[in-house]
Amino acid sequence: MALEQAAREVLKKLIENGYKAYLVGGYVRDKYIGRDIHDIDIATSARPEQVVSLFERTVPTGLKHGTVTVLHRGYSFEVTTFRKEGRYSDSRRPDRVLFVSDIREDLYRRDFTMNAMAMDIEGNILDPFGGRADLDKKQIRTVGSAFDRFQEDALRMVRAIRFASQLGFSIEPKTWQALLDMSHLLNRIAVERIKEELDKWVKSAHPDLGYRLIVESRLFAFEPIINALFQSRYTSDVISLKTLTSRLLRWTALFVLTEKNPDQTKNVLRRLRFSGSDQKVITGIIELYLSYRMVEEMNAEQEKQWWKETLLDRGWETSLNLCRVLKALNRHHLDSKQLREWYESLSAKKVEELAVSGRDLIDYIGKEPGPWVSGTLRHLLYAVNFHALPNARDALLKEAGKENKP
Ligand code: ATP
Ligand code: MG
Repeated sequence: MALEQAAREVLKKLIENGYKAYLVGGYVRDKYIGRDIHDIDIATSARPEQVVSLFERTVPTGLKHGTVTVLHRGYSFEVTTFRKEGRYSDSRRPDRVLFVSDIREDLYRRDFTMNAMAMDIEGNILDPFGGRADLDKKQIRTVGSAFDRFQEDALRMVRAIRFASQLGFSIEPKTWQALLDMSHLLNRIAVERIKEELDKWVKSAHPDLGYRLIVESRLFAFEPIINALFQSRYTSDVISLKTLTSRLLRWTALFVLTEKNPDQTKNVLRRLRFSGSDQKVITGIIELYLSYRMVEEMNAEQEKQWWKETLLDRGWETSLNLCRVLKALNRHHLDSKQLREWYESLSAKKVEELAVSGRDLIDYIGKEPGPWVSGTLRHLLYAVNFHALPNARDALLKEAGKENKP
């Protein structure tokens, strides 16, 4: 059964039991503009414990905030009790949430007009703040005073920019002005929550738009470690994150732009709570980029040699990634087809393709295993590719013997 049909069944059950229930938030927005729907949130007058007792399979996701996850027909729906939020004294979280019986009060607590719409079971849209008009104008506008809304929850400023990037929208002037004035309040928000929104920005359809908005707004001026990624001097660069197809490569390109050394880069990665494996991929390409930079003044022949050695040392994937990042940053225009040709032209692409193994070398030379083994294999790999040494057992062992004379 289709997702939307399943969501309507959940609404129906709530309504049949005397509660009010609506489809809300991102679903209504995306439906109106014809974007793909990936999940549906539901708001209801039923209290969390009533929701739990009504459905067979539920998960108490956030009972305190009124959210129960309902599992239905293989889908999961976040069902949240209509609520309004008490005073915000810390620009972060409401002091408390109050359950209410009117959907309008619930819509009023939401961040942007386009996210503050609800759809009833018949498909009628409730749109008290002009969300559809803003969607038509392709603009992001807060519900009510932008100053108040950003003061309540500073994360909304990052969300404004990530929605702009996802939808290719502009930010309505008063909302933008408030964002410019209030960005310092972001220092109260946990880095993890900021990073989550930044990941959505990086992955979005219009990442370069968001990049410009972050630079122009000086959103992270309060936090030098993060701000290093958004130095205004880079705005003149013709960068195109969009041409990069993965989240990690886009992040890598941003890190390349900072021109930081690997230790400084690691510092930023840690500050932004990147996972260990993300950090590894990014620093791997950064290190390669820095070594590329050192030899930038190369003629065509040296350039070709540099890439071939890189292909041997770092493998196809990492080399291709560097090639793509350089292109996106308008630094270098090596065609990936050319890189592929050079790769194919290598007669042995890695030590595993040599006609001898490390074990063979140890037996033949008769020395204790040690770092010399991998050193010799690498030497043989280069000799096969660049000095016409045949990739044949006898020739390789003979060359290895010369390299390891007692
Ligand atoms: P996405 O498709 O990226 O998930 P979304 O609109 O569903 O977009 P969520 O972050 O999942 O965004 O939030 C769901 C809804 O909850 C939003 O549409 C909005 O109405 C409300 N919301 C989320 N975060 C906030 C916030 N910080 N302040 C006010 N309302 C919020
Ligand atoms: Mg969502």
